[in-house]
Amino acid sequence: MATASSSSSYKITWINDVAGVKQSIKDLGREKEIAVDCEGMNLSREGTLDILSIATRHRDVYLFDIAKLGALAFEAGLKGLLESDRTTHTKLLYDCRNDADALLHIYDVKLAGVLDLQLLEVIHRRNRGQRIEYLRGLKKSLETYVNDRKMEIIKRKGINEIEESKKKDVNIWAARPLSDELKEYCAVDVAALFPLQKILKKRKDAEDMKIVLEGSERFSDYFRSYEVLPMKEFIWNPFLPQKILRFNFIRNTTEEVKKCQGCRKEFRKAELKISCLAQQAWLCGVCKKVEIRAKDAVSMLKWLKESV
Ligand SMILES: [Zn+2]
Repeated sequence: MATASSSSSYKITWINDVAGVKQSIKDLGREKEIAVDCEGMNLSREGTLDILSIATRHRDVYLFDIAKLGALAFEAGLKGLLESDRTTHTKLLYDCRNDADALLHIYDVKLAGVLDLQLLEVIHRRNRGQRIEYLRGLKKSLETYVNDRKMEIIKRKGINEIEESKKKDVNIWAARPLSDELKEYCAVDVAALFPLQKILKKRKDAEDMKIVLEGSERFSDYFRSYEVLPMKEFIWNPFLPQKILRFNFIRNTTEEVKKCQGCRKEFRKAELKISCLAQQAWLCGVCKKVEIRAKDAVSMLKWLKESV
C-alpha cells in the first residue's frame, strides 16, 4: 500500500509493497535528476538499511520501506534506477560512501551516476581560497548555504531523536509506523539537495564539475571496494580522503607503490609518512592525521602492526 501525506513543503509517499515500488519507478523514470539517501542503524554493510528516500526537483518524496520489503524493492525496479548511469539519471547524494557500501554488500546494488554534493562543497570552498582538509556535514552545509529555517528545525529535531536512540541502542529507522517527524527528516535530507545543488553550482566551470563527477565515482567506491573494511577510524573520519578529487588512484607508474597501512589504499611511496606510533608503519596524509588524533592508541597500534 502506498500512502501519501502532504506537509506544507513536500508530498511524501510511503511505499511498502511491490505494486507501490513499480508505480513509483514509473514516475521516477521520467526524472533526469533524483536525490537519494538511505537511513539505517550504523548504515553500511555492517549495519542495516531500513529506508531509502528519493526526491524529485518537484518536491515529491518517495520513502521506500526497505525494512519490510528487503530485496523485493530492488528487484521491482529500484536496482535498475540506482545502477543507471549519469546520462540517464543523475543521483544527487550528500556523502555517498556508506549508502554505496550498504547497497552493494547487503542488496547487490552498485550505485552509479552519483553527483556528490559533499565534494561539490569542497570545490566551492577551494575556489574561495578556504581550507579544504575537512569534509562538511549536511546540516552545516544547509545552514551555511540554503538558510531555510523550517528545514533546519526538522533536521535538528531528527538529529536529537537519532542521538537519543543511539544512547539507548534502539534502531528508530526500523520502527513502524515511522513517526511523521522522522518522515519529514528523511524528506528534508533528500529534498534539500536540490536547492543546495543550485547554490553550490554557481560559478563552477566545466573543469570543476568534471573533478566533482569523477571524484563522486571514486567516493562511491571508497568504502564498498574494500573486501574487508579497515579499522573504522582510518576511513570514517572528518577528513577529505586523499586521491578523491582530481587524482586517480595510482596506475601505470614506475615509482614504487605502497599501501597506506591505515586506510590500505595505494599511494606513491614518496607520499607516505612513517607512523609516530609504530616504527615502519607507513601512512597517507589523512591516516597520519587520524593517528595523531587517536583516542585509542592501543588498538590503533595493534592494527598497524597487524596490517601488511
Ligand atoms: Zn591512509
